[in-house]
Amino acid sequence: MQQDTLLQIAKDFGSPIYVYDAHKIESQYQRLTKAFQDVNQLKIHYAAKALTNLSVLKFVAKLGAALDTVSVQEVQLGLRAGFSPDQIIYTPNGVSLKEIETVAELVVQINIDSLDLLEQFGTKHPKTPVCIRINPHVMAGGNTNISVGHIDSKFGISIHQMPLLLRIVENTGMTINGLHMHTGSDILDIDVFLYASEILFETAKKFKDLTFIDFGSGFKVPYKTNDIETNIEELGEKLSHRFQQFCDNYGRELTLAFEPGKFLVSQSGYFLTKVNAIKQTTSTVFAQVDSGFNHLIRPMLYGAQHHIENISNPEGKERFYSVVGYICETDTFANNRRINEISEGDILAFHNAGAYCFMMASNYNSRYRPAEVLWYQGQAHLIRNRETLDDLLHNQVVVEL
Ligand SMILES: *Cc1c(COP(=O)(O)O)cnc(C)c1O
Repeated sequence: MQQDTLLQIAKDFGSPIYVYDAHKIESQYQRLTKAFQDVNQLKIHYAAKALTNLSVLKFVAKLGAALDTVSVQEVQLGLRAGFSPDQIIYTPNGVSLKEIETVAELVVQINIDSLDLLEQFGTKHPKTPVCIRINPHVMAGGNTNISVGHIDSKFGISIHQMPLLLRIVENTGMTINGLHMHTGSDILDIDVFLYASEILFETAKKFKDLTFIDFGSGFKVPYKTNDIETNIEELGEKLSHRFQQFCDNYGRELTLAFEPGKFLVSQSGYFLTKVNAIKQTTSTVFAQVDSGFNHLIRPMLYGAQHHIENISNPEGKERFYSVVGYICETDTFANNRRINEISEGDILAFHNAGAYCFMMASNYNSRYRPAEVLWYQGQAHLIRNRETLDDLLHNQVVVEL
């Protein structure tokens, strides 16, 4: 997005504020579908948890995407946004049988990732087709917090438990209509992904009633300059071919599914903050903004490096800053970062603020969560109001003891 557009949005709607460029979501969606155009039946489930604003959900639905959900609440929001139940897949982890049953009653595709729940669900509802989440034990990326395919991961049913899984399916008489994997959020090496896919294909041969195979996500997008990103085009070329070949052998046309979150929305997002003060210490120059990890926790939680631009002074001389927030706790956004000279009142734009940013925001320090704006065809649409004191008071029950 243009810097002056972002600046105008900060002026019109105030700061801090999240801005999403719908065109970027659209172009990423098209890039993905184009990369897999040789697949006869392709289904892209947008991972709702990345950014669950209803207007964004409606927009991705309009693009033709289906939805990936991880909670009954996300399912309900998806239905509210206009997705039909058959366009939603539900991939929970560690939830109760009761929640799974609630979602199944909505006729949403269930994806089960534990043998215990598979047996319980299959025994009670043998007629409801179920997808199973496999853990192929392939490491994606190097960060064990975001890699979920490793041996100690709580996600998925281990590939080594296949004999017991097959016995449960046989004993309950249930139907397995899909296989799924999601190895984590850091796929750099396409060969590793293809290797995991082979494990899924091998497993798929054991099931006769499949209608789809879901390869999850974990597509990496660049955050900082020279960052490596998943080569979607290369993956598309290789996996599409292999998938169609598998379908031929399997004897039926299957749907190839993905569930990208970050890939679709990360780069669409900008988080705009205003600089409250510049504070020089003996060791650094702090730029203190009107936000903190209460609004954007990824740098503190994952060490994520969000590129930061001073859109109020884009031509200014570059200097080194530590960008920090206003929370009464260490809330460093960036350390020793080269940014165009910053003055009090300047607006700093954080890039890659579309995925897992607003969604992880909290009211810590009793601060309001930011407003959200969706930018499309030259217009800024407010899609979430900034909170007010009423939001902080809502649900509080005051007792005088
Ligand atoms: C979070 C999640 C995704 C999306 O991952 P991204 O890295 O944002 O693309 C997909 N599938 C499942 C099951 C998830 O939990």
